[in-house]
Amino acid sequence: MSPEPQAPTAPKPVFLPDPQAHHPFTAFHTLAKPIGPICNLDCTYCFYLHKENFFPKGEQFRMSPDVQEAFIKQYIEGQDVPEVNFAWQGGEPTLLGLDFFKRAVELQKKYAPAGKTITNAFQTNGVLLDEAWCSFFKEHDFLIGLSIDGPKELHDKYRFYKDGSGSHEKVVAALKILQKHGVRTNSLTCVNRLTGDHGREVYHFLRDECGFEHMQFIPIVEKRDFETVAPGMKNPDEGDPREDLLKVTPWTCKPEQWGRFLSAVFDEWVRRDVGKVFIQQFEQTLACVMGLPASLCVYSKHCGRALAIEHDGSLYSCDHFVYDEYKLGNIKDRSMRELVNTPEQKKFGTDKFDSLPRFCRRCDFLEMCYGECPKNRFIETPDGEAGLNYLCAGLKIYFAHVTPVMGLMAREIAQGRPADTVMHAIQASERIAAASGQKVPEPAAAPAMPAAGALKRDARPNDPCPCGSGKKFKKCHGR
Ligand code: SF4
Ligand code: SF4
Repeated sequence: MSPEPQAPTAPKPVFLPDPQAHHPFTAFHTLAKPIGPICNLDCTYCFYLHKENFFPKGEQFRMSPDVQEAFIKQYIEGQDVPEVNFAWQGGEPTLLGLDFFKRAVELQKKYAPAGKTITNAFQTNGVLLDEAWCSFFKEHDFLIGLSIDGPKELHDKYRFYKDGSGSHEKVVAALKILQKHGVRTNSLTCVNRLTGDHGREVYHFLRDECGFEHMQFIPIVEKRDFETVAPGMKNPDEGDPREDLLKVTPWTCKPEQWGRFLSAVFDEWVRRDVGKVFIQQFEQTLACVMGLPASLCVYSKHCGRALAIEHDGSLYSCDHFVYDEYKLGNIKDRSMRELVNTPEQKKFGTDKFDSLPRFCRRCDFLEMCYGECPKNRFIETPDGEAGLNYLCAGLKIYFAHVTPVMGLMAREIAQGRPADTVMHAIQASERIAAASGQKVPEPAAAPAMPAAGALKRDARPNDPCPCGSGKKFKKCHGR
């Protein structure tokens, strides 16, 4: 996903096992926004630029040294885990200058007890990156998320400077400097109404022209009223609840586009890049097919442990919920650990499952999806129940398309073989088909693998789990 100027943020990691409301959270993730919504770009779909209006006129959008130190200290001390990950975002965090992050690293060293590892992730639009930034990132092993939406004509449509000129050239130049310094870099690509029809092209560009080996794709979903109405809150002027596309901004990805985009990328990836290119979405789905819990908040049963901290120390339930209704408090008044364990935040997390409509509870893909992110649940089910995810139709296209091959991959892994054997099998069958003049089938056109929900109905407890994990059904999807 990302939000800086780069709009929507990537889904955040969750901590396994799935959090339960009754236990205190001793591990959580926080996206830090030390420059608030301030950015040097003016991307059309940014969901964060308007947050400027939530603060008083004349607000200094810069995390003060006191708040910076309190945040770093509390974030490290508040978590009983061997590794604490800092995720810096904005707005555009490079606007703070390098000294802010040099001090951050010093403070991390000061507060990290022996045996605790500190890591840093940094989401940027890239346009200010130079030798000094990249040398710092390399020295301190920062993981960079670079926002790039594909080739120039696709990227520049929505990602531009305040004077309207495109940012693509600068982003590509930044990537070259990052690569020259050997900085670990992932692409973060927003899928919108334009790019949604160009999955293959975008993937080829990221892989072949840019050389990315780790990619994240985030669907742009913005309600028309998102600047003033928080997700889950009623807007009396919303209009006809059945007109889903009228509820969203014109650049919002259509649900089916999201499904087709992912499927198109999958078809390319599964033919030659398994084990070489890592796509967060596919890794997540494969884990699910293998019966493992979700590693990303949007596909987990519960969420609530991926918060956002603003420049002034205010802590919010999630970076997609930076609205007054979801402000938990300020770390100057109460510790982060206390705030993340408030009943409101626990409820925020468990509501992800508890508020699912019946339509989702009966869905064959429930255990891969869990209704995706609650911020996107603003349409009605076919029988008129509120709270269905806007992306549902696309999610179903994607899950139905990839689960047959994912099932085969899961089976290979369960039998101790690498998942890329599937790739070789597809290539071999295509060569045979081509040699005999047959039409080459799409990889996901294999017999459909039952999704997790369907498995429950079909398998007996001691049968091998049909997901291909190699475990008994009762120890896998039948639990
Ligand atoms: S609302 Fe929950 S699922 Fe959605 S992005 Fe936030 S933490 Fe993740
Ligand atoms: S695919 Fe659709 S119906 Fe199924 S769980 Fe996800 S949002 Fe709900």
